[in-house]
Amino acid sequence: MIPKDHPRYRSLVTREHLTECAKTGIVAWEGLTAHGRGEAFDYMIGERTTPSALLAERTAAAMLLSASNPLISVNGNTAALAAKEISELQKTCRARVEVNLFHRTKKRVEMIEDFLRNSGVDVLTGEAEKLLPLSHDRAWCRRDGVFSADVVLVPLEDGDRCEALVGMGKTVIAVDLNPLSRTARSATLTIVDELTRAIPQITRACCDISDIEQQQLLRSVDNHYLLSEAIREMTLRLSHALD
Ligand code: ATP
Ligand code: MG
Repeated sequence: MIPKDHPRYRSLVTREHLTECAKTGIVAWEGLTAHGRGEAFDYMIGERTTPSALLAERTAAAMLLSASNPLISVNGNTAALAAKEISELQKTCRARVEVNLFHRTKKRVEMIEDFLRNSGVDVLTGEAEKLLPLSHDRAWCRRDGVFSADVVLVPLEDGDRCEALVGMGKTVIAVDLNPLSRTARSATLTIVDELTRAIPQITRACCDISDIEQQQLLRSVDNHYLLSEAIREMTLRLSHALD
């Protein structure tokens, strides 16, 4: 039992929840270490949405709203951490949602699809095929899923698939607390923020963005600038960490 007044309450509850989800198979055991790396970077940005992350989140909303075929690709960690938030974003931007896993088994895919449905997500069903140019199991997706989407939101993506999707001409939006990762550097747009803060911010922006702001954000997408700002914000915090 984690006491509510523990200074790291939220982090500890999240860890406990992810561990439970790993026991049921929704989260891969490897997903726990990926979460740990994320937590370390979250410390460095001060566990808050930075100004550059907010800009990236509003830009992501502009991209999703202007897409003809938007899609949210969900893995185990994303489902465990943010199923409700994904459901709300889906309703706001009318994106399709598909489960895509690195550690893929049919049973795990179905378990995560059910888990998402129980949180109100409308999940794509049907047979997946090996459609992406990748040697591992993230090559599997559905023809009416990632394969045919023009804008793909891939929270917690791996670098290989991110590069492959960009190579296929898609607009790829990643959520990754590590601005140095291959995912972060190869995506069209990277949101350096924690997933459960990032998704609601995108949903909020989808609701209140004006046409003028949307056009202006789409004209000025600059992932290199966003990543350097994220690194600058981290460096600034680190240089004053012991003040
Ligand atoms: P690559 O360099 O190929 O992109 P990686 O080293 O980033 O790979 P992954 O397995 O893709 O390795 O790691 C998951 C990434 O997700 C990490 O960079 C981590 O910082 C980030 N991450 C983990 N949990 C969260 C979270 N809750 N919110 C946002 N980012 C997260
Ligand atoms: Mg990555």
